[in-house]
Amino acid sequence: MRWSRYYLYTTREVPADAEVVSHRLMVRAGMIRKEAAGIYSYLPFGWRSLRKLSAIVRREMDAAGAVELHMPVVHDADLWRESGRWQAYGRELLRVKDRHERDFCLGPTHEEVVTDIVRRDVRSYRQLPTNLYQIQVKFRDEIRPRFGLMRGREFIMKDAYSFDVDDAGLDAAYEAMDLAYQRIFTACKLEFSRVEADTGAIGGSSSHEFMVLAETGESEVVSCRECGYGANVERAETRPLAAPEPEEPAERREVHTPDCATVAEVAELLGVGPERVVKTLLYETTAGPVAALVRGDREINEIKLANHLEVPEVTLAGEALVRSLSGADVGFAGPVGLPDSVRLIADDSVRGLTNFVCGANKTDAHLTGVNLERDVDLAEFTDLLLVTGGDACPRCGNELGLSRGIEVGHIFKLGAKYSEAMSCNYTDEEGRERPMEMGCYGLGIGRTVAAAIEQNHDDKGIIWPLPLAPFTVLVLPLTNRDESVVGAAEGVYQDLVARGVDVLLDDRDERPGVKFNDADLIGVPVRVVIGSKSLADGNVEISLRRDGEKELVPVEGAVERAAELAAG
Ligand code: ATP
Ligand code: MG
Repeated sequence: MRWSRYYLYTTREVPADAEVVSHRLMVRAGMIRKEAAGIYSYLPFGWRSLRKLSAIVRREMDAAGAVELHMPVVHDADLWRESGRWQAYGRELLRVKDRHERDFCLGPTHEEVVTDIVRRDVRSYRQLPTNLYQIQVKFRDEIRPRFGLMRGREFIMKDAYSFDVDDAGLDAAYEAMDLAYQRIFTACKLEFSRVEADTGAIGGSSSHEFMVLAETGESEVVSCRECGYGANVERAETRPLAAPEPEEPAERREVHTPDCATVAEVAELLGVGPERVVKTLLYETTAGPVAALVRGDREINEIKLANHLEVPEVTLAGEALVRSLSGADVGFAGPVGLPDSVRLIADDSVRGLTNFVCGANKTDAHLTGVNLERDVDLAEFTDLLLVTGGDACPRCGNELGLSRGIEVGHIFKLGAKYSEAMSCNYTDEEGRERPMEMGCYGLGIGRTVAAAIEQNHDDKGIIWPLPLAPFTVLVLPLTNRDESVVGAAEGVYQDLVARGVDVLLDDRDERPGVKFNDADLIGVPVRVVIGSKSLADGNVEISLRRDGEKELVPVEGAVERAAELAAG
């Protein structure tokens, strides 16, 4: 490609909403253009990278036995009513009406459509297993679209759906996808980690996420260096916490704790460790008001709480609700004497506590010397703990490390959730009708490219991993006014094209400084610089964007060397 004929316009301007570096660089390198919140055009330079990733994804999906198809963007509401998600999906589902006032939605995911396809074609166990995939546009009306392609409203996803006769079949399909994902992210030369993920209250049995590790990632993951355990903190477990030394039950007393609304303040005032304080958080849920209890030095994992309650989400009670339930300002709720309408649920860490401190359900007051059974009837214990770095690995006991990551892929065993709801059945060997066992496997195409940049850049611009680079070689003549330079650049360019290398020739009539800045910004991995001086000695200069080290290569050998570097 000749830059003068291409459509690539770099810019210094950074949009005000670009909080992360990948977003800034994708805009500056002329890869994407925002059309509306969370809605982007993929400009030619950006689109090339998405296509490279798509090709890798297709190759690995095909190799794993999945079959490509293409489903519609616009879905009939009736299918979503059948699965129950017309209501349940909530406000991320963009609902629209056609000219006949019929309901449709823009597909945020395709379980309904694919299940409808398969139930019409597949009748017998002989036709199973099958796995269908597509690379396609999704629409989710995200509450906070941000970070460019990372969290868009309209975005491109690879989604695959497997159909099997039984659990063993599903396990095999899941494993094949798991391996395919590992091969994809390895092929992209990304540093990634595969972690256990939350499956939600009504989710399937098993789920893993693939995380590209990066400081700016929205997800937190814990991992164990010893045994390889890894989990999203939403789901992570740890071993039971060491309980403070038990004490003889003391008298329960109410103490004056003015302005002490946090555990730290209360603990300091009363001269006890925060692990001897019980934190009581009031939540509003569709299952009624809930008081969740956790040891004062720890936090509640709200996803675990929602899963335990079998509700989609829980919301911390606002000031007014806290006052009406506890009779006190925020910060003074406690398990003793809350109204019966409030369901008490305690994290396992509370179980071993004696003589603990908790809110008195009275502003500026706490109780000390509180003991389970004698003072409070707590029957419901479960794991509500937010695991963090330094906790013990649930498998081997070693210390867990904490890191941030960008979730780029998600694989999920759905089981019979959709096949049962939508009668996607097959006849088994004995002639019985049974629902198919399903799995679904998503991979964000745009998000992965953004994550690759997040992981590979410097202060000058992008440093593409070769497999995702829009072009692998940039030929950069320093002037358009020296015919020998123009001729040599042209020759190198044409030969590289002939060899099938993705090469960009910067034939713009620009100063060398401008060309070098742009070259650093767009991050093409291999650079061939041709200038009058070195060419007079018969040489060109070849360098890698990653380390910038230059080598002088005789002009006759330049194509060979550049092609070799571009092959990785
Ligand atoms: P998140 O927790 O980030 O919202 P999700 O659990 O909703 O993700 P899935 O439904 O599992 O995501 O979608 C599969 C993949 O699609 C994700 O792993 C991610 O790579 C991509 N993806 C999901 N939502 C978006 C989005 N709003 N913008 C870009 N990519 C997305
Ligand atoms: Mg989401």
